[in-house]
Amino acid sequence: MRRKIIFVGLDGAEPELLQKWSNAGVLPHMKKLLRESAWMEPQTPAPFGDGVFWPAFFTAAGPAKHGRYFRSQIVPGTYSCKRFDEDKDFTYETLWRLASDAGRKVAVIDMPKAPLKRGLNGVQLVDWIVHDRCGRTRSHPAALAPEITERFGKDPNDGNVGVEPGERRTPAATEALSQQLLWRVDAKRRACLHLLQEEDFDLFMVAFQEAHDIGHQCWHLHDPGHPLHREWGIDTMCTPVKDVYRALDQAVGELAARAGDNHLLVVVAGLGMGPSYTGNYLLDGILKSFERNGRDASYVRRQRGIFRLLPIGVRDRLRAVTFTAEGVRAEERRRRKFFAIPHNQNAGAIRINLVGREPDGRVKPGYEFDELCEQLSAKLKSLTNADTGGPVVDEVVKISERFAGPHLDRLPDLLVVWNRSAPIHAIRGPDIEETPRKPLGPRTGDHTQRALALVRGPGIEARRVEGAVSIMDLGATVAALLEVSIRDSDGEPIAQLAGR
Ligand SMILES: [Zn+2]
Repeated sequence: MRRKIIFVGLDGAEPELLQKWSNAGVLPHMKKLLRESAWMEPQTPAPFGDGVFWPAFFTAAGPAKHGRYFRSQIVPGTYSCKRFDEDKDFTYETLWRLASDAGRKVAVIDMPKAPLKRGLNGVQLVDWIVHDRCGRTRSHPAALAPEITERFGKDPNDGNVGVEPGERRTPAATEALSQQLLWRVDAKRRACLHLLQEEDFDLFMVAFQEAHDIGHQCWHLHDPGHPLHREWGIDTMCTPVKDVYRALDQAVGELAARAGDNHLLVVVAGLGMGPSYTGNYLLDGILKSFERNGRDASYVRRQRGIFRLLPIGVRDRLRAVTFTAEGVRAEERRRRKFFAIPHNQNAGAIRINLVGREPDGRVKPGYEFDELCEQLSAKLKSLTNADTGGPVVDEVVKISERFAGPHLDRLPDLLVVWNRSAPIHAIRGPDIEETPRKPLGPRTGDHTQRALALVRGPGIEARRVEGAVSIMDLGATVAALLEVSIRDSDGEPIAQLAGR
């Protein structure tokens, strides 16, 4: 039987906190939902992280098929990385496009990392109140965006909460951020209820992204084990993480009430949040040491020599723009056999400079590539955390062995999964002695691989879904419940929910 669905995404919300605070009565609506729903802990296509989680859900496909794995990606045929443009670069079909093509009425509000699809049977609003805005607030139909912002307001953070490098937020600034995020949850909650009142949709999807922002910015205030934890964060009235989760709970409760018995309610929280421990910012230096490429070292020395001849004022300005520019990095990558590229903090990403794929490839495909991957993997796994002495890399994954699809060439070749049980300030290893010590980055929280999904409605048994479930299976399940077919899916509809 075809179902109508209200979907609520809690982007960046940590499942362990949702469970803990539900049990403690802090999140009464989540507590009720946990009791009334089928629930599961869907897995993301590991070891990719947050950049893949939502796209894998709303396409029911992995990154080698849809091509998106992070906000900044290497441009095929070059050594440069650029911001992934969801509207232009994401060409794979989304759940709502397929549903719309099948005649379902859809509404899609601020789905993370989602492209705007024009010509829908329904409405879509993109980049209104989000964690990381890709472009201006836009919509289908075009009149919806100005109408919603006029009526419910604009994002006070302008699509990017940002960070304050080198210093932490004062209590007053934290309180101000917290108030902005609470306002954001409230504005989106009211906008959703307004849209749902105006029209009955077969598929209504919304994602709230405030748990994402507060988790990145204020995890140190929440987590007593974090090195930057401040007592005033946990022992006084200032509990920004908990406050945001409470507001989200209220929004979920009201949307659940709206779903009633007529709609299935699907809630997905993730990817979760924990302390931001990563070795990503040390990885490229380690790879350079591994390579011990004379030409590369002399290139860097030459560059530094010229730089020192410039007047100090010019040097400062150049340092700010040129030496961090992607163009300079790209020229350096061209001279190397392998190099780090940007990725989520859970895993460092390595691209091999491959003959036939890169313009100045230095490693031949086949035996030479495989041999290099094995050597790198062995060396990386022998690295240790300079402070704890324990291993700093849990796993090195060769992406071509785990993923297949037309966009495999856009992905990193190796992902280096960090052991994140302790802060990583410096790394030791046989070829590198010890890296320079670095402070933790400006974000104090970062994503875990955890997620939680709830499905509630008539005919759905309130119990744990059996077996391992991927987030792509959940996407395929939503499609099956709408009686919409998905081509070339990496997910399977979950029999317990989709009745197959
Ligand atoms: Zn994030």
